[in-house]
Amino acid sequence: MRKKVIAGNWKMHKDLSESQSLITKLTNALSKEEVKCDVIICPPFTSLSEAAGLVKNTKVKLGAQNMHFEGRGAFTGEVSAAMLKSVGCEYVILGHSERRAIFGESDETINKKIKKALDSGLRPIFCIGETLQERESGIMNDVIKRQITEGLHQVSKGEMEQTIIAYEPVWAIGTGVTATPDQAQEVHVYVRKLIAEIFGDDTAEKLIIQYGGSVKPNNAAELLSQNDIDGALVGGACLEADSFMNIIKSA
Ligand code: PEP
Repeated sequence: MRKKVIAGNWKMHKDLSESQSLITKLTNALSKEEVKCDVIICPPFTSLSEAAGLVKNTKVKLGAQNMHFEGRGAFTGEVSAAMLKSVGCEYVILGHSERRAIFGESDETINKKIKKALDSGLRPIFCIGETLQERESGIMNDVIKRQITEGLHQVSKGEMEQTIIAYEPVWAIGTGVTATPDQAQEVHVYVRKLIAEIFGDDTAEKLIIQYGGSVKPNNAAELLSQNDIDGALVGGACLEADSFMNIIKSA
């Protein structure tokens, strides 16, 4: 049995005091619950250091939302894997569709970031997913296959076992439209099959595949009850402690 993993992607929300308040509410609520899943929060860079202190000795683990693939240098505005490690991050979201679409990140760039993260001891939450146009024109599986094979190029089996994949159909992110449990399950099965072909059945069986895209307290339980949905990557609904807690409790 794979232990479910619920991660919150805060995106560009919450200044320092708002972050303190949300984390405090969340850790207080979690301390009163028997939680069966792992919980990760990914606040903005400016709150990571403070967040690391607040989640210490709690059930919450810390992740970042992005990083650069170089170790250091003249990359104004960028943050390295070592910097994220130094403030207490264990995870980093890579390949999010907003990074791909708004900031022009290619599969090749994402691959460099994934390898750098793994090399530095950070666990990637590697996001993949098709646009509505790609789904409707019947090339969804090709897109997913390309994102996986190129994104994970030269990643070792051992490194793959440190990696989480988040299937996030682009048309479901921030739109309020969720993939149906069947639609999500179908893609998760396909992703696990691709991972089995590259890394072997045992690695594929252990792989955590999260679903992301308008996961809310009222749809989380049904999505998470699917065999191959091992958790959720949550955007909007992680910004309030109550709604994030309700998703965590349904895992
Ligand atoms: C996300 O940003 O990864 C996401 C899934 O957002 P939302 O839950 O708001 O759709």
